Amino acid sequence: MSVIVPCFNESEVISSTHAELDRCLGASHDFSFEIIYVDDGSRDATPAILRDIRKRDPRVKLIRFSRNFGHQAAVSAGIDHASGDAVAIMDADLQDPPEVLLAMLAKWRDGFEVVYGVRLKRKEGLFKRFCYRAFYLVWQKMADIHVPLDSGDFCVMDRQVADVLRSLPENGRFLRGLRAWAGFRQCGFPYERDARRAGEPKYSFVRLVRLAASGIFNFSDVPLRFISLAGLVASAGAILGAVLLLLQRLFEVRIFGYAPQDMPGYTSLFLALQFFSGIQLLSLGIIGEYVARMYGEIKRRPVYVVAERLGVSLVEQQVRTGETEPASTVPERPRLASS
Ligand code: UDP
Ligand code: MG
Repeated sequence: MSVIVPCFNESEVISSTHAELDRCLGASHDFSFEIIYVDDGSRDATPAILRDIRKRDPRVKLIRFSRNFGHQAAVSAGIDHASGDAVAIMDADLQDPPEVLLAMLAKWRDGFEVVYGVRLKRKEGLFKRFCYRAFYLVWQKMADIHVPLDSGDFCVMDRQVADVLRSLPENGRFLRGLRAWAGFRQCGFPYERDARRAGEPKYSFVRLVRLAASGIFNFSDVPLRFISLAGLVASAGAILGAVLLLLQRLFEVRIFGYAPQDMPGYTSLFLALQFFSGIQLLSLGIIGEYVARMYGEIKRRPVYVVAERLGVSLVEQQVRTGETEPASTVPERPRLASS
């Protein structure tokens, strides 16, 4: 099993995380494992601590990014380098208990290619819990694939699924969505998510909102279709209104004591203007979301840049880092037949 642990400024907790993993996984003698720590450009002592851990423990692999590329990039790097038959993803802050990994691994042995954690209870603030809940509900309604409620990146997956994730060329990576998209036999594993063991959360609220937006815009074109619908309804309303006003004017009919000729109509003009400017701005914004994403994909920039690697070989690195050798010797990135 390969266990991927993304770390960003986790010096306060990373040693205990490693000790826990070692205690938990080391006790099982029926499989061997590697732990891939991906240091996502930490600015504290995390890289030094990880190097130290690696010195003492040869099962530890280390990938260090040249700067902070974000959690999803860190996990992607881990998947690109994982060599296990089963690949696990776990946070560095011990919110996902290592014991659960063993239980998930057992499920994997039962034949499930993806065993993902489903958070039963969260030990986080009321507002954050409400936002998570709201996001997963909206996401489930909108996404064009079936996505499970309250499942994070914490999971054990089969080599086959890891290979599918590696082969996906898209840069805007929302892994729990891509993992659901990959298919195979998937099963949820309910567990209680602890509070962070030490240190501050590394995801700010703004970054969480951005992650949620990736979930929706990368997996759904409902917002786009919603514009057309809103446009249709708005213009149909305008045409009906125009006909109504014309008839009122011609036959001098009063509705609620009002006839169009009574008033200059500044208020309605103003309101209409306001309404349609609003719809137009909203539509532009939504279109902009997709355009921005296309722009991001078209640039073909690598998802991350590796500054240092310990215990992992270069050939594997070429998948998404864009590190180059003469073109002929760079292995073709595996592609799926259809998507
Ligand atoms: N993380 C990362 N890069 C970042 C932000 C977070 O690698 O830019 C890692 C972090 O070290 C942790 C995991 O992603 O292992 C989840 O982060 P955090 O605990 O802050 O998120 P939360 O659990 O609050 O959603
Ligand atoms: Mg956390």
